Amino acid sequence: MSGLEGIKKITELNLKDKRVFIRVDFNVPIENGKIVDDFRIRAALPTIKYALEQEAKVIIASHMGRPKTDEDKKNMSLEAVAERLRELLECDVIFVHEPEGNAPKGLFPALKRNQLLLLENLRFSEGEESNAHEMASQLASYTDIYINDAFGASHRAHASIVGLPSIVKDKGIGFLIEKEITMLDRVLYKTESPFLAVLGGSKVSDKIGMIENMLSRIDTFLIGGAMAYTFLSAKNTPIGNSRVETAKLSLAKELIERIHGRDKKLLLPIDHVIVQDLKPGAEHKTTTNEIIPEGWMAVDIGPKTRQLYANEILRAATLFWNGPMGVYEMKPFDQGTMAIANAFAETNGTSIIGGGDSAAAIKAAGLEDKMDHISTGGGASLEYLEGSKLPGLEVLRQGKAKS
Ligand code: ADP
Ligand code: MG
Repeated sequence: MSGLEGIKKITELNLKDKRVFIRVDFNVPIENGKIVDDFRIRAALPTIKYALEQEAKVIIASHMGRPKTDEDKKNMSLEAVAERLRELLECDVIFVHEPEGNAPKGLFPALKRNQLLLLENLRFSEGEESNAHEMASQLASYTDIYINDAFGASHRAHASIVGLPSIVKDKGIGFLIEKEITMLDRVLYKTESPFLAVLGGSKVSDKIGMIENMLSRIDTFLIGGAMAYTFLSAKNTPIGNSRVETAKLSLAKELIERIHGRDKKLLLPIDHVIVQDLKPGAEHKTTTNEIIPEGWMAVDIGPKTRQLYANEILRAATLFWNGPMGVYEMKPFDQGTMAIANAFAETNGTSIIGGGDSAAAIKAAGLEDKMDHISTGGGASLEYLEGSKLPGLEVLRQGKAKS
């Protein structure tokens, strides 16, 4: 089984002299007009370079943020991305200010080798998010071949993700999506056991679907982050003022029973770092066991838990991690998350990371290169692992696999 069945790869299409529309995910963090992290831009380079090498006429398009007001538009322009692309590709990037305009049609015929077009933020046009037919057909009017390499946006049925490729006949995926799906398929279908999942982050509700879909395959669950306190509370462990999703308590209880019923392991923190007030420099202490005293809240897993989890991680053959173990943005409450990151770097198993915050923590630790795969799409990877079909992939499927 492969999630890529019936979908053409960019290498299976003849791109020479064709107008190739590449949808990428350049939704990068920008502060004061400067790109803070160009991870997603670099991740799309192999596809863009390949298309240029094949002598295609390339147009690139992406969304950025959720622009609503005119002020937003100033901060969410892709102009800074155009600049970074010029540096990274050593190529002439022609910026097209109107994402829905006619300019590309005029520019394509004169486009030279080593030149490409970049559209302004697609979401500056209302039709993008509403998947408007007018927008899709406008983009299609100058597209010979459509390539999706925007993994992080492929769970959204927007005009450039679904509308456009449903009109264009020749279409496929780029190298980034190919890698994303191939790696996630290792977790979904071709798992080597023991298969371990580390789940943390803010909410149980974000991750329930994925836990349920993967329940039968995962051998060991390591739970941390805020979601651990909903699980602990479901087991009647005192959790003080720690974050808890009261509405999810019975669901957590049921999951614990189902996991144990299948003879799988579910580990919860056995000690914690706790504070009375969550603020930078807050006074903190470590509990001796899983109990959190009244008036205190847990902000990280404790040293015994870190050791326990690291031992499990070193033994696993397949590993998936989503969500930090504590409030990692605030030092020293990043220590639990860093301990997991280090164990992931050390293990011989195949390590796959989904989730923006977990990825950010790994990058902060400088351990990017030690992981087998860091997904560029938190939401998209979770939806894929929940067993949901990604609209941006389904529209590219041809032949039998469509049913
Ligand atoms: P990811 O982006 O990796 O999927 P999430 O977005 O689900 O992760 O969660 C990240 C957030 O969870 C972080 O902002 C972090 O501060 C918060 N968090 C982690 N542990 C705790 C905790 N014990 N209490 C409150 N918030 C927490
Ligand atoms: Mg997040």
